[in-house]
Amino acid sequence: MTINESIKGKTKIACVIGNPIAHSVSPQIHNTISSYLGIDLAYIPFLVKKESLKEAIEGFKACSLVGFNVTIPYKNAILELLDNISEEARLIEAVNTVKNVNGKLYGYNTDCSGFKRDFAEETGTNFFDKNIVVLGAGGSSRAICVKIALEGAKGISILNRTAEKAELLAGYINKNISDIAKAFGINACEAKSRLSEADIIINTTSAGMHPHMDSMPVESGNIFSRGQIVYDLIYNPPKTKLLAEAEKAGCKIVNGLGMLIYQGIEAYEIWNDVSISKEDARIIKELFKNYL
Ligand code: NAP
Repeated sequence: MTINESIKGKTKIACVIGNPIAHSVSPQIHNTISSYLGIDLAYIPFLVKKESLKEAIEGFKACSLVGFNVTIPYKNAILELLDNISEEARLIEAVNTVKNVNGKLYGYNTDCSGFKRDFAEETGTNFFDKNIVVLGAGGSSRAICVKIALEGAKGISILNRTAEKAELLAGYINKNISDIAKAFGINACEAKSRLSEADIIINTTSAGMHPHMDSMPVESGNIFSRGQIVYDLIYNPPKTKLLAEAEKAGCKIVNGLGMLIYQGIEAYEIWNDVSISKEDARIIKELFKNYL
């Protein structure tokens, strides 16, 4: 028998809360970052039931936790339990990262900032003055649409299976950020011309995700044009049917693994006041490519 020294009295603790939580890969991401950087921080998952959310958060305030992540279904419900919320998270109406500073809780959205960082790194460009199509109008679409509107996109076309949800989101962007968003049913004629004219296409739907790998969010065939950037938030499989079709048409394709890793990296940076270099981030991303 040997003495297990992986967690000691001075070890910093962070966690993730959600329901369900067993599927979360955040513990692996954060504990890997800790061991790679040599930082004494341990990260654990907590299953929190809806009726216990407030109590759990009060408990975190009383403990010396450095911070925590929030996943489905609490990214919105957590807002009213925090002391301070970043401007972006307030606009998205979702927090996935909380920092505990002497019992005061500060909320952030690193899904959107992680997405921006990965996009810039993978494509060498940004959203300023671009025509962008966003497929989907759920939770992750809201984070992406707010971010790209804040970053100066020229136009955002939100295409969704349920057109009413796209209309609500477009209306929200137009009212609260800038008047650049339009909504369409995902297979409407107008949607097809939006797709062909776009500089950037971002899939935020779950269509094509494991195990429904034959599924596509839009009707297959001649959707893409050479030179477009197509970013799919899905990372399992690494190349969705949508990305395979885009690649065939000569587009630059990126999957959602980098966004996943960067939302973790940004949370880690917020809690520990450290900055993780592009090179270190690349190494961590490579490691998870073969894991997920
Ligand atoms: P959500 O809130 O449930 O939204 C799901 C969206 O997908 C809705 O717009 C829905 O349309 C659409 N959709 C579902 N099945 C479809 C189908 N067969 N055809 C066309 N549209 C379909 O989910 P979410 O939280 O936004 O997550 C969406 C995806 O993003 C998931 O695959 C998730 O894993 C991924 N994601 C990745 C990261 C990352 O870090 N890489 C982060 C967050 C999310 P309706 O409105 O018509 O139902």
